[in-house]
Amino acid sequence: MTYLSKNGRILSGKATLEGAGVKLKRAFGPQEVPLLDPFLLLDDFHSNNPDDYIAGFPWHPHRGIETVTYMLEGMVEHGDSMRNEGVIRSGDVQWMTAGNGIIHQEMPKGSNGLMWGFQLWVNLPSSHKMDDPRYRGITGAEIPEVEVEPGVRIKVICGDVEGNKGPVRDLVVDCEYLDIVMEPKTVLEHSTKKGYKVFAYVVSGRGYFDLSKSSSIDVEHVVIFKEGEKVKIRTEDRSLRCLLISGKPIGEPVAWLGPIVMNTQEELKTAFDELEEGTFLKNPKRARKPPELHSSFYKP
Ligand code: MN
Repeated sequence: MTYLSKNGRILSGKATLEGAGVKLKRAFGPQEVPLLDPFLLLDDFHSNNPDDYIAGFPWHPHRGIETVTYMLEGMVEHGDSMRNEGVIRSGDVQWMTAGNGIIHQEMPKGSNGLMWGFQLWVNLPSSHKMDDPRYRGITGAEIPEVEVEPGVRIKVICGDVEGNKGPVRDLVVDCEYLDIVMEPKTVLEHSTKKGYKVFAYVVSGRGYFDLSKSSSIDVEHVVIFKEGEKVKIRTEDRSLRCLLISGKPIGEPVAWLGPIVMNTQEELKTAFDELEEGTFLKNPKRARKPPELHSSFYKP
């Protein structure tokens, strides 16, 4: 039995300003490519001050990726160019495939001032970057929670824990997305698929992501595991909440500018030219009149 373990790499979240002025912690992003392939970015939005998030992410485009939004507290009102509209509430997940292009907005609203959520970007392989966009909204009630050991509970958003399958299935890039809560003095062993990239993000408390008695990892840190068959996570005197995410690497070149991630600079130029010309959306029949892009939207 081989554990994914020692000598993994630790990253700490960096304060970042995004959208129309949202203060967030970026766990990893463009500077880490290709370290977390197929994952591109993980943002942690956590604030009890509405000034930090209320400006939100007004109308902006995406192409070539999936964005996965998971809310713990507060909510995000969203709307997109495919006429989807709704609210991602506490416990809910939105798994959005931008594919060949979507224009959307994501506007956070606190709950008694508190807003806490995560957005993960999953890359798409060249063969699927220009797929039609699609979007799945999953409510917290649809996400199974499994007690795998006394004091160890796992919400299965995507993947399989002891036969409990998460509601997000049939992804282009196979992923597992788990939200794990561990009481003090507990241990979790979890199998991972061969060759997959595996990382944990500490949401609260602290834990040990290693077999040895090495130091614990606390909030807003990413643990990137080395190759192996299992992850072992344990706690001592403190509890731990972490996301454990894995996915099949794509292994292609990454050309990334703002909200658009393609394989080549030429494809990026095409995307930005199409935004200028009004030909970015490939499903004009389904799309409503494309909203004006907000001035905060990144332009080359
Ligand atoms: Mn977005």
